[in-house]
Amino acid sequence: MPAYPSIVRRAFAAAMITLLAVLFGAISAQTSAAAQPVAPGSSLYETVSAAIMQRAQQSQLQATAAGRQSRVDVQRRAGDWAFGSAVLTAPAKPDQYPMGWMFLAHRTGTGWQAILDGTAQFSALASQAPAAIVSVRERQVLGPAAATIMSTADTTYNTGLRLPFAIGQSWRLTGGPHGWNGSDTPYSSIDLNGGDFRVLAPGSGTAYLMCDGNSSGQYGGWVRVYHGSGYTTDHYHLWAPVNYNGGSVSEGAFLGYTGTDVSCGGSAPYRHVHWSILNGSTRVSWNTRSAGNWVFISGPAPYAGYALHGSTKVDAGGQHTDAGGALYNYGALNFNQGIVDANDDTYINKRSGPGTGYAIVGSVTDGTTVTISCWRNGTNLTGRWGPTAVWDKLTDGTWVSDAYVYTGADTIGPNC
Ligand SMILES: [Zn+2]
Repeated sequence: MPAYPSIVRRAFAAAMITLLAVLFGAISAQTSAAAQPVAPGSSLYETVSAAIMQRAQQSQLQATAAGRQSRVDVQRRAGDWAFGSAVLTAPAKPDQYPMGWMFLAHRTGTGWQAILDGTAQFSALASQAPAAIVSVRERQVLGPAAATIMSTADTTYNTGLRLPFAIGQSWRLTGGPHGWNGSDTPYSSIDLNGGDFRVLAPGSGTAYLMCDGNSSGQYGGWVRVYHGSGYTTDHYHLWAPVNYNGGSVSEGAFLGYTGTDVSCGGSAPYRHVHWSILNGSTRVSWNTRSAGNWVFISGPAPYAGYALHGSTKVDAGGQHTDAGGALYNYGALNFNQGIVDANDDTYINKRSGPGTGYAIVGSVTDGTTVTISCWRNGTNLTGRWGPTAVWDKLTDGTWVSDAYVYTGADTIGPNC
């Protein structure tokens, strides 16, 4: 597919990231006891709270303190070290969502110092912390040593993720792209409900319960997975009987049920998962990004918009309604794959070389997932995603115009 300005050509990096993700996924998952809330007024609370407020003010959400509270949950503590989740709760009303990060805190003679994830300072402090507080894997995922493996989110709009439920099920796209808070930008979130209500990890990674409601033996409903590829996903409103607390999860691991939990604020008028996409810990837009072999397109207003699988279009239900078109979960689109998009036709031709002057040697149906070995410039054609001269050589040796393939990147693989 043709260029997005922010995409650079680093497909091999993506392949490495896939390998890393597989290695991370091989580590077994672990669950943990409930996090321990820190009482307001204590010096640890005040230090972490100050870090939360500072980051919130830097964020795109420009959150005001009105109606919001800092919430600090310690998940691990040893000596002068503490690690856990740091959340700015939201008012309990529609279109308000909490903000949250993982924090690492260290106490010295001058008191506590607290750093939130996704910063160089986090890495620096983590390098001094005991492994029981921050594991080697967490240092990679939460700090920006991660920058080296965080390239996927900068280089491809294919997230490499499936939809967050079982492959083969169809769930309603109840809300199209909208802000984490509703109408704020970027439109980082979509709402999904249906099937067996079981929300599953859309990819392997490191999982945390960001907000622990801990009522009646159940955990609260905001689960974050750092996928290690650079992409991170948030899942809110879950009824979650598990708490991974930094444990590895494999793709498809159970995260919780779609629910109406608002432990950290906001509103959920019906059961769903509010599913958000981030680059590291920064929210990014779903618009033209893909998951589960669907490409999400923002509408003129939040919660509108639709999803595309090839030329098949599924409309969102809209704001605060448990309706919407059915999204079949095809599974993840790998970083060396694309989705044939015949631009509202039913098929495209396969050629013996990279141009329309070469013989037609077959065809491929709209919506088919194809695997690409390499690319070359040839006849310039225009599809749904704009003009391009790129042609993709498929693994069967035939060629198709990249104008009719969604890949999330300018090119896939090496130049042939
Ligand atoms: Zn939502």
